[in-house]
Amino acid sequence: MDFDLPDHLATLIADVRRLVRDELQPHDAAIEETGRIPDRALDAIRRLGLFGSHTPKAYGGLGLDMLGNCLVIGEMAKAHIAYFYTYSMNVHIASKGIELGGTEEQRRRWLPDLASGRRIGCYALTEDGAGSDAAAVQTTATRRGDAYVLNGRKRYITNAPIADLFTVFAATGTDGARPRISAFVVEKGTPGLGIGGIFRMAGGNGSLHAEVVFENCTVPAANRLGTDGDGFAIAMRCLDAGRINWAAYCVGAAERLLDMTVHHLATRHQFGKPLIDNQGLQWMLADMALDLKAARLVCHEAAWRYDREPQQRAAIGAMAKLAASEMAFRMADRAVQLFGGEGYRKDLPIERIWRELRAIRILEGTSEIMRHIIARDLARTARRANDPEGHSP
Ligand SMILES: Cc1cc2nc3c(=O)[nH]c(=O)nc-3n(C[C@H](O)[C@H](O)[C@H](O)COP(=O)(O)OP(=O)(O)OC[C@H]3O[C@@H](n4cnc5c(N)ncnc54)[C@H](O)[C@@H]3O)c2cc1C
Repeated sequence: MDFDLPDHLATLIADVRRLVRDELQPHDAAIEETGRIPDRALDAIRRLGLFGSHTPKAYGGLGLDMLGNCLVIGEMAKAHIAYFYTYSMNVHIASKGIELGGTEEQRRRWLPDLASGRRIGCYALTEDGAGSDAAAVQTTATRRGDAYVLNGRKRYITNAPIADLFTVFAATGTDGARPRISAFVVEKGTPGLGIGGIFRMAGGNGSLHAEVVFENCTVPAANRLGTDGDGFAIAMRCLDAGRINWAAYCVGAAERLLDMTVHHLATRHQFGKPLIDNQGLQWMLADMALDLKAARLVCHEAAWRYDREPQQRAAIGAMAKLAASEMAFRMADRAVQLFGGEGYRKDLPIERIWRELRAIRILEGTSEIMRHIIARDLARTARRANDPEGHSP
């Protein structure tokens, strides 16, 4: 891995830092208070091309590699998380199904609008009975001539109330006892597509997570991504990218927390000296810095390998998300502690960031499921090593 930034990326990152400092962070407190992101802030994100940071240039994106994309995300993580929820679905889970599973015609039809931020995307997989067991979806898609008719309900779908394009996973039949899943792009305004209740979450005020309801929702067969039954693999490929992106988000948020904590300990005096002069607190800071560095290396190596070892994406994405989301929440909890009462105040940012980071150990696969994916990969590797001829099942 090369740790030097190429010039174009260094320039972009400097621009993103300015965007975050001058045009995003100033609204953080108001977003938390009102639950609304100002349109001009989203426009500023659009102008820099960040809705398409990881979309190939051929489809209107910036065409960054995964590592460059993660470095940009790390900077964006220093503002309110509602920005990230809102724009990043277009970067990963709401666009990757089209990019990786779609035909050339489908890519040209939808990706430029997602990459520019003209249209907002969402990804609808989770259901009441299909959370960690995502393959258990009950939403059905029944073929009727040149169309599919969708029926069912999804929950926790980020951006659903503001989305223009929905990547939806539904059962088109069964394979043995399990649903055979296919993926569809459903456009806003399609009759039978509805938005149900909006969930009130602990963090992320300003972003929207809602139910999506399909009642005889008729979607042209031309909107199916891949072939019949490809849907689950497409869903997982979206998550491989999404998890590395969330890992990068956690790294950036933790960097900000560490900076704020060091500054606080250096400037706050108790017992006649700065807090940072207490060796017990210095050791906590050292542990926090090391924890962050280790997770950042795991995340950046995962991003680098994402582009080089496609067959390893599931395991490296799981490892990156597990390492970084657990680290970031530890960091946030320690920051609350080291800020004392100021860490727990609603009018100051530490408490908000602590709540925001808690969700990332759950969304796009929980920490337990990340461990399951990592262990499954270890077991597969061990089996292959013991059976180089490939005779075992
Ligand atoms: C803020 C937020 C945004 C989200 N956005 C989206 C979105 O845009 N699109 C979408 O489709 N979904 C979205 N989700 C849903 C999310 O992906 C699921 O919540 C997550 O996968 C967990 O599923 P669940 O909530 O049903 O928990 P469950 O699957 O019920 O899990 C409950 C607990 O049991 C554990 N568990 C479950 N199975 C096992 C097992 N086999 N071994 C060990 N432990 C296990 C889990 O780790 C967890 O601790 C979002 C969720 C949140 C919180």
